[in-house]
Order: sequence, then structure tokens, then C-alpha cells
Amino acid sequence: MFEGLAEKLQETFKKLRGKGKLTEKDLNSALREVRLALLEADVSLPVVKEFIQRIRERSLGADVLDSFTPAQQVIKIVNEELTAVMGDTKSSVEFNSSGATVFLLVGLQGGGKTTTAGKLALHYKKQGKQPLLVAADVYRPAAIKQLEVLAKQIDVPFFALEEGNSPVTIARQAVEHSRSHGYDLVIIDTAGRLHIDEKLMEELQQMKDAVTPQEVFLIVDAMIGQDAVNIAKSFHEELGLTGVILTKLDGDTRGGAALSVRKVTGCPIKFIGTGEKLDALDPFYPDRLAARILGMGDVLSLIEKAQATIDEEKARELEKKLRKQEFTLDDFLEQIKQVQSMGPLEQVLGMIPGLGGAKQLRQIQEGIDEKEFTYLEAMINSMTPEERRNPAIIKGSRRKRIARGSGRRVQDVNRLLKHFDQSCKLFKQLSELGAGKSARKLKS
Ligand code: GDP
Ligand code: MG
Repeated sequence: MFEGLAEKLQETFKKLRGKGKLTEKDLNSALREVRLALLEADVSLPVVKEFIQRIRERSLGADVLDSFTPAQQVIKIVNEELTAVMGDTKSSVEFNSSGATVFLLVGLQGGGKTTTAGKLALHYKKQGKQPLLVAADVYRPAAIKQLEVLAKQIDVPFFALEEGNSPVTIARQAVEHSRSHGYDLVIIDTAGRLHIDEKLMEELQQMKDAVTPQEVFLIVDAMIGQDAVNIAKSFHEELGLTGVILTKLDGDTRGGAALSVRKVTGCPIKFIGTGEKLDALDPFYPDRLAARILGMGDVLSLIEKAQATIDEEKARELEKKLRKQEFTLDDFLEQIKQVQSMGPLEQVLGMIPGLGGAKQLRQIQEGIDEKEFTYLEAMINSMTPEERRNPAIIKGSRRKRIARGSGRRVQDVNRLLKHFDQSCKLFKQLSELGAGKSARKLKS
């Protein structure tokens, strides 16, 4: 998602950075490009207008253009404003302090309500909650079955009533059921319509009155662009939403809805759906997304991901080694093992600034392919301790010996050493970023 927009904005700012001094004319032509890129990504026009105006005002004010690093200052302003458009910080989800928390999921047909119900249940189950999935889409028997299947898949209890019961009755009884069974999160999947109509809104309002949910989530398909924003606006006016969940932000969705919903409706995006699988749900972080669009890399997500798998002690040790340039092939091996346990490598590397480029990504990935890992280990094991500490000494004859010793070809050894070199640079970049972030965290 956002590839097109990200590419265009990054190109614009690259040009800007290439200039030492910035004139007002430079700024204006850059802003014209930004404006176009946003409109092409299907961001609402009023949002674009206000956004450009704020950036122009701020960039022309307070010594920005006369500073030593005008382009950087402008990009910083763009980053801040982009974040602000989407809601500044991650919006928290409300939980009932006593008794069960209720989420009511609303939206049009096909938006992804039922799927998202399953995703939310899984998300909070992982966090130690005990969710109950409730089927209140009484108009389509298949919808009830669909939710039941999802509930089984993730091993979460499921609640439905026999035919003839109204959605309001189902919702009410589900909450009672959760009380008597000790479930602390009730997720209610409702019926959609093809279009917004009075009857749908009335019924949802009745459900809302009956169970006073902590969260009323609108589930809406981001692929429909501006329509998603308009739908969100109507639902919010009629029903009073607490959050929007944008689905189908995977694939080639242009993403304009993600940038417009907050400004147009006043309602925050709380999650985004990025795939059909049940774990494809992410909390929405405006700052991270802005940084990502601007090519600053989703450092925070990356660090978080790394922290979940990499031993902190080891990471610190590694950082020290990198600073002192004592990173060895043994460390390299260890590091690959850790990176491998971090999940899809592409996903991880894609978050690193400057590494979005597919070519670079592929090169590095090649060297640490699952299958090749054993070969890699064998080659490193065939090296002397001295060679592992100081790979620079591994020249022709040593390469031949290592290849023979590990049953590989000399080209393989060459490639390994090249990847080692690349990875040194990569890990160094990573650890510097990590250090910068944690220093900032300490200050705030
Ligand atoms: P509902 O009618 O609102 O309950 O929508 P469903 O949950 O039945 O979803 C409609 C279709 O959208 C299904 O085929 C889902 O697999 C698909 N879907 C839901 N969320 C996502 C998403 O985030 N990404 C993608 N690619 N598909 C999704
Ligand atoms: Mg459904």
C-alpha cells in the first residue's frame, strides 16, 4: 500500500535535498508535486488543500528556507503534518474497567466485518483477553456459519441464537452469556447492507442502546477510496462511531482513505486490515505510516519487532562490536539466526530506511535463504578462528581451502563474504537507528 504515493513524495524530496539553498519557487514547485501525488493517491481534496497550505505557511515562516538544511526542515514539517492529518498518535481502544467490554462492528456488506471480527478476537486473545464472537447478522444464514468457522479456527467461543431472534436480542443475550461465562470481550458482528439506509441505521442504533458498547467500529473497504471516507462520515453522523477500521489496505490500494478519514470525519482509524488471513490486522500508527510514506523507514515497528525476538543483551553487545568494527563472521552467523526468527525477512527489511529497494533486498535475502543457511554455516565452520575474526585476510588460496573444506564452490565463498560485507553495513545502519531511538525515548 502507498507505494505510488511514497515513491512520488520521496522523489520530490530527493530533488529538494539535492539543492543547497531553497527559494520560494523551489518550495512551490515541490508542493505542487506533493499536491498531485496526494490527489493521485485519492486523498480528499479539502484535506490536500489544508495540508499544502499548512506546509507552505510553516516553511515560509521562522527561518526555514534560510537555515543550513532547508530541505531537511521542510521534510520534517511534511512528516509532522502528515502525521497530524492521520491523527498524531495511535488511538487507544477503550476497555470496560469492570465486566465485559463490548465491540460493535458495523458497516456495509463486503467491507470485511466478519473477517475483522475474527481478527480482533485473535488480536486480543493473544493479549490475554477472553473474547466471545457473536453472530448478529441474521439476514444471511451463511454469515453466521462464516463467523462460526472463523471462531473454530482461532479457538474462540462463539455465540448465536436460533432463527427468529432479532439482532438486539442476540446482542443482549450475548452480553449476559459473557457475564455468566467469564468472557471479558464481546465482539458483535452485524448485518450489512449494500447501501446506507434508514432501517440499517435504526437497527444498529437499537443494538447500541441495548448493550452500550465501549467501541463502535466501522469496518470499511479502503479500496473504494473516497467512498470509504463518505461512508465513514455518514455512519459517524448517524451512529457515533468510536473508531474506523480500514480493510484491504494490502495489494495496490492507493491508501487515500487512510489519509482522509480522520480529517473528514473526526473519527480516528484504530486498526488496518492488510490481508485475508486472520493475523493480518495492525494497530494504526499515524507517525509510523507517515515516516514510511516519506521513506524514513518504519524504525519503531522494526525495533519493536526486533525486540520481540532478539535478546536485548546480545543486541547491545552487537552494537558495541559494530561501533568498534569488531563484527566477525561468528557474529554474522548468530545474527542471521536471529533475523531468521524475526519472520518474513522481506517485511523486516522493507522497514529499514533506504532498503525499500527490491534489488538490494533480494541480494541480501539470497545470502540468508533458509536452504542456504546450512551451507553458510558449513563454510564459516571451515574457517580458522583468525579468519572469522578478520575476514579481510581471506584471499584466493584461503577461499579455495574453505570451499573444499565445506564442500562448496569458491563462488559460494565469495558470495558469502560479499553478503557479510553488505550485512555489516546493514546491521550498522540498524543499530545506529536503534540507538538514536532509544536515546530519544529516554529523554521524553
Ligand atoms: P462482511 O460482509 O463485511 O462481513 O465482509 P467479510 O468479512 O465477509 O469480507 C468480505 C471479503 O473481503 C472476504 O472475501 C474477505 O476475505 C475479504 N477481506 C476482509 N478483510 C480483508 C483485508 O484486509 N484484505 C483483503 N485482501 N481481503 C479482506
Ligand atoms: Mg459478514
